[in-house]
Amino acid sequence: MRLLRAFTPVVVAVAMVLPLAGTPTAAGGEEPPRLLAVTVANGYVHEVTPVLEEVLEGLGRESGGWGVDFARTNEAVKEKTTPEALAGYRGVVFANTSRDVPVADREAFLAWVEEGGAFVGVHGASTLEGWPEFTALLGGQFDYHKEQATVKVRVDDAGHAATEGLESGFEIHEEMYLYRHFDRQRVHMLLSLDRHPNTGEPGFFPWAWTRVQGRGRVFHTGAGHREDIVRSDWFARHLLGGIRWSLGG
Ligand SMILES: [Zn+2]
Repeated sequence: MRLLRAFTPVVVAVAMVLPLAGTPTAAGGEEPPRLLAVTVANGYVHEVTPVLEEVLEGLGRESGGWGVDFARTNEAVKEKTTPEALAGYRGVVFANTSRDVPVADREAFLAWVEEGGAFVGVHGASTLEGWPEFTALLGGQFDYHKEQATVKVRVDDAGHAATEGLESGFEIHEEMYLYRHFDRQRVHMLLSLDRHPNTGEPGFFPWAWTRVQGRGRVFHTGAGHREDIVRSDWFARHLLGGIRWSLGG
């Protein structure tokens, strides 16, 4: 597992900065919070998704921050998102989900976040359509992307766990999503572009942000298409910080 070994110094460093309490067990030990990682694709299938799954699991294990359960099929999603099943999770990650995600009970899912659940949407998560309350929860919806581009990313909040170590203007080559139904007043910005990724036209183009929904915390990142991005150290820190923040760290 060369990938995880490469992560270790970063993970240990961040873990020391952000202690996160787990759940006491009968044996007196601590069990990390459970995350449900949903990777079902009902539209475009991202080839990188198994790598993203590996990264999610590895970061949780290495940091001790969480354990992961996966829902990779529509049937598994329906089973694992009932109100009873959700009660067993501290967080849900839509990791490159594509289009529809058939959660068992939409209202109960939103209520679970309101009551303190963590919700994380990675890249494809924003392609979910036809559920306006979900789009409001996430903070935006995928509009379109053009060809992959090399861009300079602006760090809007350098003090957030999800942007630790990132300097404004860092360059990446990635498939850059553009969003609709996005309202800057409803989110806390983390990363954005000040030029259109493909045309170079000046403007404001959100890429990663957080939201608070009731007692729940929401983290979204547009990153996560290319395998070299998903395997990169900066993405590991970004995702780790975002998930830990959403879990209350
Ligand atoms: Zn993509």
